Amino acid sequence: QEDKFKQVIAHAKEYGYIFSSSEIYDGLSAVYDYGQNGAELKKNIKEYWWRSMVQLHEEIVGLDAAILMHPKTWTASGHTEAFNDPLIDNKDSKKRYRADVLIEDYCEKLEQKAQKEIKKAKKRFGDDFDEAQFVSTHPRVVKYKQQQKEILQRMAKSLDNGNLYDVKALIEELEIACPASGSKNWTDVKQFNLMFATKLGASAETATDLYLRPETAQGIFVNFANVQKTGRMKIPFGIAQIGKAFRNEIVARQFIFRQREFEQMEMQYFVRPGDELKWFEYWKDLRAKWHQSLGINQELYRFHDHEKLAHYANAATDIEFDFPFGFKELEGIHSRTDFDLSAHEKLSGKKLQFFDPELNKSYVPYVIETSIGLDRMFLAVFSSALKDETLEDGSRRTVLQIPPVLAPVKAAVFPLLKKDGLPEIAHEIIDELKWDFNVIYDEKDAVGKRYRRQDAAGTPFCITVDHDTIEDRTVTIRHRDTMEQKRVKIEDLQGILDQEVNM
Ligand code: ATP
Repeated sequence: QEDKFKQVIAHAKEYGYIFSSSEIYDGLSAVYDYGQNGAELKKNIKEYWWRSMVQLHEEIVGLDAAILMHPKTWTASGHTEAFNDPLIDNKDSKKRYRADVLIEDYCEKLEQKAQKEIKKAKKRFGDDFDEAQFVSTHPRVVKYKQQQKEILQRMAKSLDNGNLYDVKALIEELEIACPASGSKNWTDVKQFNLMFATKLGASAETATDLYLRPETAQGIFVNFANVQKTGRMKIPFGIAQIGKAFRNEIVARQFIFRQREFEQMEMQYFVRPGDELKWFEYWKDLRAKWHQSLGINQELYRFHDHEKLAHYANAATDIEFDFPFGFKELEGIHSRTDFDLSAHEKLSGKKLQFFDPELNKSYVPYVIETSIGLDRMFLAVFSSALKDETLEDGSRRTVLQIPPVLAPVKAAVFPLLKKDGLPEIAHEIIDELKWDFNVIYDEKDAVGKRYRRQDAAGTPFCITVDHDTIEDRTVTIRHRDTMEQKRVKIEDLQGILDQEVNM
């Protein structure tokens, strides 16, 4: 797993997907830049999400709110008071960790043990295997599951009550060692606010404290009435937004999974109070289908229903993905009740209600939120796409099987040789296709080597112009995943690509 993770990071750099921020100055920890291919992949993921959420839903509209918001926003949302991470230092290694993450990692190891037993039994019993029955009766699996549950419940309770001593006690009881040094010599647990503060205004006396938004959701809530009225929206309706969010994450590892500056794709769906659990199920199902539609191996996904809910939620699920460092949250679906709108209503004194003509009364709507990290989706797509294959002739290739609809470059066009008018024809083809697809030209090295380069870069199609092209206006089109080659007419390329790579 560790090797796979290193390979993902190295490959992302080598093929122009992701660089460390300000790398020439040795980088900035947990901040990343997206290169020429990364910017395209990111843009395509955004577009795929936006189209499915906004364009395909008559009742959902978009929004692009500012990153800087009135500071009262974060009082109402609870972020000023409670957007904290519990931190703990190891006295020997002097390294700092999130206490909750240490405990969660411990539980993940228990889960892995349980999964190992399940896998073994599956193999042994074959088709007759009843997983649910096994999980509820096998003594070791029952124990692993029960332990996890108890630990997580105790941690959540302690954090909720602000009992940081008990969080430390839990770490000591479980004998959790420092991942860096193996030492179990811990300090007390302290709370640390994750918001980045900045100042608005020039003079020291009049400047106001501001925060870079730690989530995009509040931009949607404070605009609820604006959008509802000007768009004449009727409940149920949704507001979708893609944008940057900032968190001063302390445990900054795991590459783009946990960054200090990242992008969220969020949608808040406003519903009639009492209907929220129905809509919660609806969005859980629809978001799962969105992920399925990309054709990524479904075994890499799992749903994790929250047993312990945040104070504002009455149902919550994470869609988790098997990243190179194990299953972690990719997307959250939350039933947030009227917590946010009511809090903003109270603090601002402005009505944030909807008059429901069917019920003939006004109310503060309830909210179902779907929130996915764009960068985490990027990592899910990228890491699951990266494969090393042994071919029939025994040779090996590295291929990046990004779903064609998301691939940064849709086709590379090659002249077989750099002469005889072949480059000119290749450029003509590009000039035709470039209006609809991101296509590139490549004439360097032998064609076999160019194929491998495009395989590793994630380009789903290669189009080769050769001497026959001059005679009959046909080219060879090669598919990245199957490596199959076909002879097709130049005039048919547009239609073929349209079918294979468009949304
Ligand atoms: P985690 O528990 O992993 O810190 P979270 O529960 O705090 O995440 P939310 O506040 O629910 O995350 O944010 C919604 C989504 O935003 C997450 O599902 C995740 O995809 C993304 N996200 C959150 N924090 C980060 C980050 N530091 N870097 C990249 N993406 C993030």
